[in-house]
Amino acid sequence: MLKIAFLPGDGIGPEVIRAAVQVLDAAAGKFGFSYTSEWFDLGAERYLRTGETMPDKEFARLRDEFDCILLGAFGDPRVPTNIHAKDILLGLRQRLDLYVNLRPVKLVDARLCPLKDVGPSQLDMAIVRENTESLYVGIGGSFKPGTDDEVAQNVMIATRKGCDRLLKYAFELARARRGKLVLCDKANAIESAHGLWRKALKDMAPHYPDVKATTLYADVAAMRMVTHPHEFDVVVGDNMIGDILSDLAAALVGGLGLAPSASTHPGRTALYEPVHGSAPDIVGTGKANPLAAILSLGMLLRDFDYPAAADAIEEACARAVIAKAVTPDLGGTLTTDGVAAWIVAGL
Ligand code: ATP
Repeated sequence: MLKIAFLPGDGIGPEVIRAAVQVLDAAAGKFGFSYTSEWFDLGAERYLRTGETMPDKEFARLRDEFDCILLGAFGDPRVPTNIHAKDILLGLRQRLDLYVNLRPVKLVDARLCPLKDVGPSQLDMAIVRENTESLYVGIGGSFKPGTDDEVAQNVMIATRKGCDRLLKYAFELARARRGKLVLCDKANAIESAHGLWRKALKDMAPHYPDVKATTLYADVAAMRMVTHPHEFDVVVGDNMIGDILSDLAAALVGGLGLAPSASTHPGRTALYEPVHGSAPDIVGTGKANPLAAILSLGMLLRDFDYPAAADAIEEACARAVIAKAVTPDLGGTLTTDGVAAWIVAGL
């Protein structure tokens, strides 16, 4: 039986996770599966109360006792250092070695696309971002800070193992989609680290003759995503390039309120979360759009072999967008719970 940990977190996190759980319960009833779950009290409230962020005991339970985690958001103005978010979110990604960050980007309604004359059939891609390396490993520091001679340095890491395992995932995904993969990098400027990515791609491509694998400089990719979005199927990038391109792509299909994500490593507890943050400005107003969290739930169910439930959830979300049965950020008038109820009824 599927074992899910709910980590609602801060701000609008609990609101969107509650909405997603209503949809999960409806899907379980309709498609005849069951699951066990537990809610974890991790986040700013707990940190302010006890000083704890991610205790080892709870991390070990998440690692050993659950198939997956459905997470809301972390971030709270009362914790300006964001230490709890770093420990919980980055801690889970790093300690579970969740090297794949998958962000599907699919346009469901032309009204949400800021590009002219682009409809759903022209914008359907999957961004596969390396999630554990690159510039985000925290290696570096400052020398003579606060002086005119200040020097600041951050080190970019690329490992052959890291490139190979992510590319393998991306090739398999491309094979299951439209058979196109593009590696986006800055190999012209970052010759060693991004050169390694190109070498790994060149070595792996012959094993996937059915996938058309190409490379693009990331700056060119950013332009072509705007001018020729239909060219993109599976887009691969290191942690930094994937971070930037995935936000650009999300803006093409409706923005943060519609962007789901999965962070995975086969065989380990997988993490599903909406891309948006805790949005403290709209907490408690009913304006939090739950669709990104609900679509993250859809990704979870697809990965754990409930494709019919995942399809139904995805389709119900698309119908909600088209019918404007959405929150104000997408041009609707419903509340968070109203959207959840609409999706549940749609199932
Ligand atoms: P954090 O510090 O946790 O990243 P943030 O508010 O700085 O939070 P986001 O929450 O990612 O960053 O997004 C910025 C703004 O976008 C929010 O202040 C909010 O107004 C809007 N927003 C984000 N997510 C949603 C959502 N699910 N529904 C509606 N509006 C949203």
